[in-house]
Amino acid sequence: MSISSKTTICAFIANPAGHSASPSMHNAGYKELNLDFRYVGFQVEDIGKGINAMKTLGIRGYSVSLPHKVDVMQFLDEIEPLAKSIGAVNTVVNDNGKITGYNSDCEGSVLALEEKTSINGKNVLIIGAGGAARAIVFGVKEKGGIVTIINRTNEKAKSLAEKAQTSWVSRENLKRELEKADIIINTTSFGMKPNINQRMIPKECLKPEHIVFDIVYVPKNTQLLKDAKEVGCTIVYGYKMLLYQAVKQFRLFTGQEAPVEVMEEALLDLLKNN
Ligand code: NAP
Repeated sequence: MSISSKTTICAFIANPAGHSASPSMHNAGYKELNLDFRYVGFQVEDIGKGINAMKTLGIRGYSVSLPHKVDVMQFLDEIEPLAKSIGAVNTVVNDNGKITGYNSDCEGSVLALEEKTSINGKNVLIIGAGGAARAIVFGVKEKGGIVTIINRTNEKAKSLAEKAQTSWVSRENLKRELEKADIIINTTSFGMKPNINQRMIPKECLKPEHIVFDIVYVPKNTQLLKDAKEVGCTIVYGYKMLLYQAVKQFRLFTGQEAPVEVMEEALLDLLKNN
């Protein structure tokens, strides 16, 4: 479909803009549904000006990336309650000048997990207490998971646990907590390219009963997931969270259900050399 003045624009905004998988996924979805939409990327330093530009130019939606996920909140007309609780917005929608913020990382992580397991009543060990962990802790808790947080920096684990009204333990207790966990989620950047051979969780601590979710998606097969597969655990790939958070954004931007398989294919194609 050709581009005209009527084409609806969506974009990711970040600083630096760097590399993003979002344009491939969203544009593949628009093409599949024959929508007059295009998804691009902008490097935005001043997020307030970024929101003004959205209003001026009639940009329909933003995927909000680092470092703007918290600062953007002050410029919005409305924020969905879940994003408010999480304290971060990664999706912004422009409805004729009314700007609303959402968090799609939360739904993305829950849907990725739910492809493989129910969450209600399960002991969920969340490793890490950064931005992604925040969304995941709230999502898992909302689904009835019993969450324990562990992090390199204890103060951050404590602070997130207090905010989400859940438990935390200091990192020395990792082995004991792995023993108790049904679901283990790595939300840290540990194991991310180029440090692909790093091991935070000793392989001998994994059991076939464990469900292991590593949100790192470059590489797709992280060392943790390789170990978990060899032990016989159920594994959840990080790219699935990336996919399902984009699926929620697609729905919010276009008002249509996303063609999930087409978007997944586009994402896997992008990641295939990593
Ligand atoms: P962040 O806010 O900077 O948090 C980083 C977390 O990783 C913190 O808990 C940090 O611990 C921990 N950490 C970093 N290096 C570590 C190390 N060497 N040893 C132990 N802990 C370490 O980052 P984020 O935005 O949450 O992103 C974290 C990872 O998730 C990245 O790899 C990102 O690509 C990935 N991610 C994936 C998705 C997806 O859709 N699959 C979405 C978002 C993010 P301290 O608190 O001690 O510093």
